[in-house]
Amino acid sequence: AGEVVLVTGGGQGIGRAIGRTFAESGAQVVVADVDERAAQEQVEWIEAQGGRARCVRCDVSDPAGVEALMADVAAHEGHLDVLVNNAGVMVARPPEELSVAEWDRVLNVNLRGAFFCTRYGLALLRKGRSPSVIHIASTRALMSEPNTESYAASKAGLLGLTHALAVSLGPEVRVNAILPGWIDVSAWKRSDLARQEALRPEDHAQHPAGRVGRPEDVAAACLYLASEEASFVTGQVLVVDGGMTVKMIYV
Ligand code: NAD
Repeated sequence: AGEVVLVTGGGQGIGRAIGRTFAESGAQVVVADVDERAAQEQVEWIEAQGGRARCVRCDVSDPAGVEALMADVAAHEGHLDVLVNNAGVMVARPPEELSVAEWDRVLNVNLRGAFFCTRYGLALLRKGRSPSVIHIASTRALMSEPNTESYAASKAGLLGLTHALAVSLGPEVRVNAILPGWIDVSAWKRSDLARQEALRPEDHAQHPAGRVGRPEDVAAACLYLASEEASFVTGQVLVVDGGMTVKMIYV
């Protein structure tokens, strides 16, 4: 009941579903997002459902901002049970056109952000009850479409960060990663941006599971990894992709 869950990028998309799922399970949710309007909407929705939530504006690529975020959580909640490093950005650009600034932006949000949220959140996690960290990586840590180098590298980096932190932070804190595949977040955006994307029958049919993923699929995996049932699971990677990465595609 006193469980405190911090979700970065928790205002929209997968992070929105993660926060709602934890709130429904009785947790208090801290929504950390650069988009204040999206985060505020998430807090209002959770409160309207009778849950508890609060938002803090934070750009996870700014280590000083992350330190301030954790100081704010220390002052308000006093501890953390679950940290979900979900904030992420993607740039698709041919390798010969990608700028240094674009490379740095993607790595600094997706990878450096996850590390410094964990680093500065650690003292709070150590005060939590069976605490754990969950990184939201991507199946793009394992495979690629063209022109996605910075994103793939950042997500593969999260896999290394997962086993390194699991070893450093055990036995007090467990650290795991989820690798989502194609998740349709179109209806989970800020109210002025949300629109139901028209998925084609073949979009669903190509998945061994028979459908494109939903944000709730990732949220359910988070709830499991954070639970007491997963107390022997650390340093692991859970692929939630409807089977796409195990499917051979020879034509
Ligand atoms: P989204 O764009 O719908 O939502 C991301 C949220 O993160 C937004 O609210 C945004 O404001 C916030 N955010 C962005 N940069 C931030 C920063 N620097 N600091 C704090 N908040 C920031 O994205 P999504 O599709 O829900 O993706 C969530 C995570 O899941 C990302 O890490 C993404 O790489 C990963 N992922 C998504 C998919 C997919 O198909 N949607 C697949 C695999 C992995």
